[in-house]
Amino acid sequence: MNDSRNKTSVIPKFVYALAGVAYVAGYLAMRYAAIPSDPKSVDWPEGGKVLLSLFIPLIIVGYILLIGYVYGDAKRRLMRAWLWTLLAIFIPNAIGIILYFLLRDPLPFYCSKCGASVKSAYTFCPNCATSLRPTCSQCGRGIERGWAYCPHCGAAVTGQNRAAPQAGSPTSQPL
Ligand SMILES: [Zn+2]
Ligand SMILES: [Zn+2]
Repeated sequence: MNDSRNKTSVIPKFVYALAGVAYVAGYLAMRYAAIPSDPKSVDWPEGGKVLLSLFIPLIIVGYILLIGYVYGDAKRRLMRAWLWTLLAIFIPNAIGIILYFLLRDPLPFYCSKCGASVKSAYTFCPNCATSLRPTCSQCGRGIERGWAYCPHCGAAVTGQNRAAPQAGSPTSQPL
């Protein structure tokens, strides 16, 4: 289940459809509206006009796919996808997109018991309460395997938590 989820495209299908429509519309607008109305382009060879009409819409398509990626990637990272999509669209000079890539959350875990997506910072599954990582017996916060002492409260980690993985440990952390 986890593998098939990772293999599916991050960009939603409707974004590809939108990009296709935008490309065709962009080509027609360039070829039959923008270029003919530009007095400087009157003397251009016909082939040059076609090439320019084919090329300019590619920039728009790339921009749409990038915003579609922000939406799909924010969604699988359990972030507020629409908020980030709007920021990506409306903050000029692609600064919203750059901010997204700087600030995005790590990919979530998948709970081994119920399969729910769980933010990587969580210690317990919010859906079924399965423990996703070893916890400190003193303060109850999440710790990593192999640690001798809890970094939150300083208690010595007991042998049980330092040994074999627990039943509810995360099954994978895709990159
Ligand atoms: Zn669960
Ligand atoms: Zn502790």
